Amino acid sequence: MIFKSGISGNINKHPGIKHEVKLRRSMLKSLKKTIKQYERELLSALNKDLGKPKAEALISEILPIYKDIKTTITYLEDLMAPEKVSSPLLLFPGKAYRYPEPYGHILIISPWNYPVALSFIPLIGAIAAGNRVTLKPSEISSASTRIIEKIIKKAFPDNSVSVKTGGVEETTELLNTRFDYIFFTGSTNVGKIVMKAASDNLTPVTLELGGKSPCIIDKNVNIKKAARRIAFGKCFNAGQTCIAPDYLLIHKDVKHRFITEFKNVISSFYPKGAIESNYYAKIINERHFNRITEYLNDVEIISGGNHDKNRLKIEPTLITPINDDIPVMKEEIFGPLLPIIEINDIDEAIGYINYHPKPLALYIFTNKKSTSLKIIEETSSGGVTVNNTLSHYINPNLPFGGIGDSGIGKYHGKETFKLFSHYKSVQYTSKIDIKQIYPPYKIPIYILKKIYNLMT
Ligand code: NAD
Repeated sequence: MIFKSGISGNINKHPGIKHEVKLRRSMLKSLKKTIKQYERELLSALNKDLGKPKAEALISEILPIYKDIKTTITYLEDLMAPEKVSSPLLLFPGKAYRYPEPYGHILIISPWNYPVALSFIPLIGAIAAGNRVTLKPSEISSASTRIIEKIIKKAFPDNSVSVKTGGVEETTELLNTRFDYIFFTGSTNVGKIVMKAASDNLTPVTLELGGKSPCIIDKNVNIKKAARRIAFGKCFNAGQTCIAPDYLLIHKDVKHRFITEFKNVISSFYPKGAIESNYYAKIINERHFNRITEYLNDVEIISGGNHDKNRLKIEPTLITPINDDIPVMKEEIFGPLLPIIEINDIDEAIGYINYHPKPLALYIFTNKKSTSLKIIEETSSGGVTVNNTLSHYINPNLPFGGIGDSGIGKYHGKETFKLFSHYKSVQYTSKIDIKQIYPPYKIPIYILKKIYNLMT
């Protein structure tokens, strides 16, 4: 991870900050050490909750936490130092600074699909920025939540970070309590509940929400590579990823080749079938299994479609929706079904996307730079990956978040520290006093205008 410092303050001149840097570093180190101690238990809890293959659990839930802690510790001093900014001539020889100060007490509410990473990654930024934290992990990924609670209790015996477990009732209780900032990851509907509750105390919020992330496939494309990369993005965690490609808008000229390649890729990923594979996650619970399989009632299945209720597994399934008004085309699928919509040209795809709520992610597969630029410039989304899926999420220098229905606010990398910091503006002023600026104003207006324009 590369944080560009750009911060010019010198913390040696601030003994209070120097002491705080030490304290926060030791909290981050304690968190890392404790997660390492519980790594095996976390992996087995993730397997119990979601059947997560070890490789997927490591690269999406555990390793990013270690990396984030390491880089946050490295750049903490820079991030905490007051940032010197210039002052206009009018205030000469004044000095001005932006002081990052903690908000105070942060509430982090996390979902079940990446229960570990989506609890700890925001937590790292919140404690690095000096806040106290209450974490409310999901009740649905209960095995992971139990280990998260153990880790927090052990890493922070002083209760500077605490865990509150429970479901709707307990979260509602928390939302009725005053916090200084609420960081919520979850569905758009619950996001609205959170924002309403926050408004009572004018509590600032970050809402990391979901929605339907489209994937456009142009006719000028490496179809084999596109099929592999889309299948990977959709099959990872069995489609239970906020930025999974939700549906395809595919040029009619390449549709049939794509279907063939997609089927080949799935067979190569899971030679004995996805349901049998240990490298393919399960659906979180029976409610979601039923929700996803019910979508199959309104569609034509192109490939896949098998499912096993006992093991809560659903094959990666390509489908043709009969129209745009059926549930699978209105709701976030959050499972391994991939609807295909045929398009005649790129303008049709752009029109479709702009007619629907702004997505969290947008994927573009094309060999033509002019086509990707056109789509980027004529649509709005939280983020975009060109010729792959999920990739913009991984780059710590690209702040991650949604827009409109897919969320408010962005984090990752140094943005997480900034998100959890209030930047206090501080102006030191000069000893020189220009008498003419005080009443009674004797200065002629035309000179006042000139001086103002010159000196500000
Ligand atoms: P959810 O909104 O049902 O639950 C999220 C959290 O809110 C949980 O901790 C839950 O206990 C709590 N909650 C649920 N109902 C509540 C209510 N009525 N009042 C108060 N609190 C309530 O979301 P989920 O099912 O856990 O996660 C799936 C959703 O999260 C999907 O929409 C997905 O796209 C989204 N998501 C977004 C991101 C992102 O980074 N943008 C990441 C992961 C998941």
